[in-house]
Amino acid sequence: MTKFEDKVLTCEECGTEFVWDASEQAYFAKKGFKKVPKRCRACRAARKIEEEKEKKNEKEITCIKCGKKGVTSQELKEGEEIYCMDCYLKERENPSSNTQVKTE
Ligand SMILES: [Zn+2]
Ligand SMILES: [Zn+2]
Repeated sequence: MTKFEDKVLTCEECGTEFVWDASEQAYFAKKGFKKVPKRCRACRAARKIEEEKEKKNEKEITCIKCGKKGVTSQELKEGEEIYCMDCYLKERENPSSNTQVKTE
């Protein structure tokens, strides 16, 4: 069995030196990865979050009803108005926009 030793690598993203430890190298070897990590843990974690967001295609929205901030994976048109999840559910249960009768 190959013996691994901790290696100090430099993150290509933020330039920080980080330790690629022996257990991780062993893990890479076991998985058959030939690559060496290019980023530190923090950058990899940040990247993963970004990728998750992209995958889900989430965008930040501000609810036009209550002003609360949230995320949506819906495709939004420029200037489209959107509710947060709470208001959306309320609106769906009790739609006010579809009613023809004005109460005021
Ligand atoms: Zn980094
Ligand atoms: Zn809302």
